[in-house]
Amino acid sequence: MEKTIPVDSCQYFNEAMETMTRAEIEALQLQRLQATVEHCMQSPFYKKRFEENGLKPSDIKTLDDLRKIPFTTKQDLRDTYPFGIASTPLRNCVRLHSSSGTTGNPTVILHTQKDLDEWANQVARNLWMVGLRPDDVFQNSSGYGMFTGGLGFQYGAERLGMLTVPAAAGNSLRQIKFITDFGTTALHAVPSYVTRLYEVMKDNGVDPRKDTKLKVLAIGAEPHSEEQRKRIEDMMGVKAYNSFGMSEMCGPGVGFECKEQNGLHFWEDYYIVEIVNPETLEPVPDGEIGELVLTTLCREAMPLLRYRTRDLTRVLGRNCPCGRNHVRIDRMRGRSDDMIVLRGVNIFPIQIEKILMQFPELASNYLITLTTDEDNDNMTVEVELEELFTDDYHRLLELEHNIRRALKDEILLTPHIKLVPKGSLPVSEGKAVRVVDKRKVYQ
Ligand code: AMP
Ligand code: ZN
Repeated sequence: MEKTIPVDSCQYFNEAMETMTRAEIEALQLQRLQATVEHCMQSPFYKKRFEENGLKPSDIKTLDDLRKIPFTTKQDLRDTYPFGIASTPLRNCVRLHSSSGTTGNPTVILHTQKDLDEWANQVARNLWMVGLRPDDVFQNSSGYGMFTGGLGFQYGAERLGMLTVPAAAGNSLRQIKFITDFGTTALHAVPSYVTRLYEVMKDNGVDPRKDTKLKVLAIGAEPHSEEQRKRIEDMMGVKAYNSFGMSEMCGPGVGFECKEQNGLHFWEDYYIVEIVNPETLEPVPDGEIGELVLTTLCREAMPLLRYRTRDLTRVLGRNCPCGRNHVRIDRMRGRSDDMIVLRGVNIFPIQIEKILMQFPELASNYLITLTTDEDNDNMTVEVELEELFTDDYHRLLELEHNIRRALKDEILLTPHIKLVPKGSLPVSEGKAVRVVDKRKVYQ
């Protein structure tokens, strides 16, 4: 289902799909949902699931009937590892991506050529939406391989027709040389890496505003706060757009911000979006936080029905000044499995980040460590200082005190604060590791 590239002046990559009215979106979704459910009967997993629940594809007569279908979970993917959920014979699949979990089997996602084509179209749509055109030069600092941020953006940027620079992860000096030498105008990076790249630019006398042609950043793959985004935009002097993706759906391309930056447009011609209460699994009203549940509408190799993403977010609206009526989803609050429960209080790392980023004295890298000290569970927040003023002891103490107070207001607990020199905390090549849990577990 390849798509020809629209003329540069067109605001949309796929105008017909992007500008549908709500009624048109829902009609298309029902048609695609029915076809997907029918197709899922080729999957041994779904066939059994439907039989066990006394369900038939013909029971799906309206979009509301989606709720008759049981949820699919990451555990289901693990239990059927490696190919048990596929709805298409392996000989028709051309690629797999695998994401390693912390425990148990990794998950495997299969793709047919059509799936890869559609994935590229989704990414191209996103990049077009924020103003990128075939004249642009797109550099990707994601790891290539099993992590979908590499190949996903690669094929999407090529589909749009840009000159692509598949720099891959790491080696900041080389990244910067590519950016300046090749006239990179758009860069994709995980947010924690952008701040690192900026530091290296600064140390090497490169000013991104003067010495590069950068005009767009695509940042995603890991949770980040609005404050972190603002910092990144101020540092680099360009707009940074939030990009949401997950391997189970394809990878990057699922949701992306438009130029309004008022939430991520999730593409409803490709997915049905539900937000449910993670405990009752009932839908929550728009505006209320819950777990994101996605149903794929165009996947051939491995469609997923009502997949529980574990990501927590909310619906912000269903229309937008940009002319797209695809649902707008708030930035992720984190994953339910990332939630820290400390002394009975629920805390998301992103809440801590939001507070830290409000202090101009602090740099962007931080690490939360949980420990058990004399039978008490404690949290230590280490955060890098923007500049070293360790000789000014009074100023350091005052800053520590202010951070502790602000954090207490947000998370209702008083963590230890450790201010450390810039560059002293570990930086990972892929997604940032923000929490280290060294607590003793009592049985
Ligand atoms: P993976 O399948 O390994 O790429 O991981 C997908 C997960 O990364 C999602 O379920 C989210 O938890 C997280 N993620 C991806 N993009 C974003 C984003 N823009 N903001 C917050 N979290 C994200
Ligand atoms: Zn919009």
